[in-house]
Amino acid sequence: MEIEFQRVGKKYESGQEALSQVSFHLQQGEMAFLTGHSGAGKSTLMKLMMMIERQTSGQIIVDGVDLRTLSRRAIPQHRRRVGVVFQNHQLLFDRSVFHNVALPLQVSGADPQQIAKRVRAALDKVGLLDKEKYNPMALSGGEQQRVGIARAVVNKPQLLLADEPTGNLDPKLSAEIMNLFQEFNRVGVTVLVASHDLALVARMRHRVLTLSQGRMVSGGGFG
Ligand code: ADP
Ligand code: ADP
Repeated sequence: MEIEFQRVGKKYESGQEALSQVSFHLQQGEMAFLTGHSGAGKSTLMKLMMMIERQTSGQIIVDGVDLRTLSRRAIPQHRRRVGVVFQNHQLLFDRSVFHNVALPLQVSGADPQQIAKRVRAALDKVGLLDKEKYNPMALSGGEQQRVGIARAVVNKPQLLLADEPTGNLDPKLSAEIMNLFQEFNRVGVTVLVASHDLALVARMRHRVLTLSQGRMVSGGGFG
């Protein structure tokens, strides 16, 4: 997926200006990091990409299409093309690993055989095929985060967004999670990872976009 922000602004109804004049271009198949202090606007930028929030100025162009022109029906379709990983992975502890990963497919109405095939493929990619019957509560923090990643990729998204995905993990596990994102990127998925772990980001040698007080202070522009 190719994404272009053109002078995007977001002012919340509270009056808080979370983003201002943000411009950048992520190429199809690119991987980049998004850094910035707490409150800089990282989550807001990702919410705009998922159309959970709408910009109040500027244009967001995805694969050549201005997101403001999407019909109400096209919005869920757009979201299915975006996989999302959160810091607090938001797993459900009342069901198995398998059924956690299956959730987005059940929402989109796939048949059970197809679901089983896709869930196992996603678990295989994150190295958790042998844990499908476990309750996620019985897994380590790093494993739980990998379940969250399997769930984010089970729909075969064209864009993978991760918001502080290693926030609660030690450096070794954090590096493993970043390597997983790189593997998805290697097969053509566009990846954007928000992180304030600057040491980790520097080691990964990808492009770094930096937000400060809602402005893109480095790594932006058009290209
Ligand atoms: P980050 O992810 O970099 O910590 P956020 O995008 O969460 O930054 O927040 C950017 C700014 O917007 C902050 O000042 C935050 O308080 C404000 N903000 C975030 N969400 C909302 C909201 N729903 N309503 C009002 N203000 C918000
Ligand atoms: P919506 O009901 O908002 O239209 P979708 O089913 O289109 O949501 O899914 C939006 C995105 O969120 C997809 O990338 C999907 O993989 C992901 N998703 C769906 N359900 C969950 C969930 N329970 N937890 C985390 N991500 C989910």
